[in-house]
Amino acid sequence: MNDTHNPALRSWVESANDASSDFPIQNLPFGVFSNGGERRCGVAIGDRIVDVSAVADSFTGGAADIARACSAPVLNSVMAESNANLSEFRAQLSSLLSSDSASRTALEKALVPMADATLHLPADVGDYTDFYASIYHATNVGKLFRPDNPLLPNYKHVPIGYHGRASSLIPTGAEIARPSGQTHPSEKDPPKFGPSAGLDYEAEVGFFVGTPNRLGTAIPIDEAANHIFGFCLVNDWSARDIQSWEYQPLGPFLAKNFATTVSPWVVTREAIEPFRVPAFFRPADDPKPLPYLSSEEDEKAGGLDLTIEVFIRTSIMREGGLRPTRISVASFSDMYWTTAQMLAHHASGGCNLRTGDLLASGTVSGPEEGMQGCLLEITRRGANPLQLSSGEERKFLHDGDEIILRGYFERDGCARIGMGECSGRVVAHYSS
Ligand code: CA
Repeated sequence: MNDTHNPALRSWVESANDASSDFPIQNLPFGVFSNGGERRCGVAIGDRIVDVSAVADSFTGGAADIARACSAPVLNSVMAESNANLSEFRAQLSSLLSSDSASRTALEKALVPMADATLHLPADVGDYTDFYASIYHATNVGKLFRPDNPLLPNYKHVPIGYHGRASSLIPTGAEIARPSGQTHPSEKDPPKFGPSAGLDYEAEVGFFVGTPNRLGTAIPIDEAANHIFGFCLVNDWSARDIQSWEYQPLGPFLAKNFATTVSPWVVTREAIEPFRVPAFFRPADDPKPLPYLSSEEDEKAGGLDLTIEVFIRTSIMREGGLRPTRISVASFSDMYWTTAQMLAHHASGGCNLRTGDLLASGTVSGPEEGMQGCLLEITRRGANPLQLSSGEERKFLHDGDEIILRGYFERDGCARIGMGECSGRVVAHYSS
């Protein structure tokens, strides 16, 4: 930890000092925005965006390289920068935005109100991989699909994942059209094709690869955390009726590749340092991870004290002016596998991870009721519908339903930092 994490730091951007802001001066997440003109990279501070490349002259040394790289329409070049340069940039920006900065006049001209900006996908993502790192989610879902055998025997040995689809990653706020697909609702009838009747969300944490690895080289577990550029929220929209018919023997395919929403702000590896906690506590009779997934440092500080909340807003709630209903709260510290273990495992066979690749954790669920990160778990596959404040109930998502994910890091003695929102609304068809 360093001066940029100091909870006493204040900014001359007043909105950043509001205790409820996701983007205090201790956060400084990167994103891609436009306001009428070209897309470019910026940094969130309070309710403003620093248009970094417009004030590149305010930075020196390695930090200036990053400021210039912010003129690109995606964060890939910034993500490829060394951790030393990224750290220098963070220190200089923190100092420029702090309340006693002499450079306020220069920087003030480069502030864009977030409300006037359009936020885009943060990176050009070459490959997207989705893990399954919550043992609570895996057990709950396993019970529904295989009551006699909920947790498969490999789960505690292998970080399970599948290769997702980068082409259908969409930014927060974009609509999600209900997918059609093949389902087999009744053993007595033949399979059919049509709109999914089991559309669901999955609340997940995403992490972007910064430093790549060469084809054929693994990433040692103790170096894995340093290959992560930063963290975002991901909604892995899932069609459960399509999934249950197609998932054996090769795992999910069309049930999960029609749309995945990504939040706009990427909270950096350095910003989350104060919120590192021990990895999942493995009971004595759980297997110890194999050596390539095992590290004292990761056991001590591989977990993250990150809270994920899920809200729903139906058409009726929107029309009646009702607030979104919170349907779950879970902690990322309950994940069975750490982000370093997921990344090290991914590269362990020699698969090259490239700058800008997106890895996601899998649904973040906890051990108790109210901590389940998807409707499949909450409603027991539709058997116990969810009751909403509007008097409605849900087994799965209806057209018009909006799902909003929020995430924040909070710990005594630290400034709370947030991830912003990851939201999307279900529609019957895309409009164009
Ligand atoms: Ca998922």
